[in-house]
Amino acid sequence: MTPKRIMAIVNQKGGVGKTTTAINLAASLAELEQRVLLIDMDPQGNASTGLGVPRDDRSKSTYHVMTEDLPLDDAIRPTRVRGLYILPSHQDLSAAEMEIGTTEGRTRILSQKLDEAEMGFDYVLIDCPPALNLLTLNALAAARSIIVPLQCEFFALEGLSQLLKTVEMAKVSINPKLAIDGVVLTMFDKRNRLSAQVADDVRSHLGRAVFETVIPRNVRIAEAPSFAEPVTTYEPASQGAKAYRRLAREILRKHAERKN
Ligand code: ADP
Ligand code: MG
Repeated sequence: MTPKRIMAIVNQKGGVGKTTTAINLAASLAELEQRVLLIDMDPQGNASTGLGVPRDDRSKSTYHVMTEDLPLDDAIRPTRVRGLYILPSHQDLSAAEMEIGTTEGRTRILSQKLDEAEMGFDYVLIDCPPALNLLTLNALAAARSIIVPLQCEFFALEGLSQLLKTVEMAKVSINPKLAIDGVVLTMFDKRNRLSAQVADDVRSHLGRAVFETVIPRNVRIAEAPSFAEPVTTYEPASQGAKAYRRLAREILRKHAERKN
């Protein structure tokens, strides 16, 4: 499979909006006529739940693809969103690290499975776990670029240098083409001065690496997963849905301009 683009959504901090961004960016790209695969690489499986895959129906999952002789094509399933497919996660994925830990080529398993897959996609998004572990390294090895969600809160930049170091290491050792698409500011609260301060601070540190689009704190975004839908279909006119659509367009524009 040669998808136009494989993007990993990475940040070793939990609760910063990785899964929310993975689901809603994927759905927004699908809305823009892209064929999209979302790979749930987090043992918690929130992206899978949020897109309606029942927990007791995950016998073919990222875990099985990573640890068994199961082709990716056989584990992918459609979602309710047209053009959006998911490779669901299974809680056993937390044990996968141990299982593949001594395998030769252990960082390239996902990348290899993607190479061997036959289904065609324009975009593949990988929702990473909140850790810089072997699962995340597999995502970094497979991806062409990364998106880093940062929550607009006081410690937003904390941990970022460690993340960037890991990305550099991945570039040197497993994936020289890996690029940073950008940092996306999430849960921005316009009534909160701290949010604006953090956003300014992040922009002055990282400049053009920060997406213009800012994702607001929006209750519809938080509600949507319990209805097993992305916010773009749950409440299409909400500020949250609009913001994720804007982010999708910004990314498509960026990729078209850069042609890389
Ligand atoms: P991560 O995957 O990085 O751990 P999540 O995407 O699961 O983070 O988000 C953490 C929590 O914050 C979830 O409960 C989610 O619903 C909520 N959340 C994320 N983004 C927003 C937003 N823009 N507005 C409101 N709630 C949000
Ligand atoms: Mg998550």
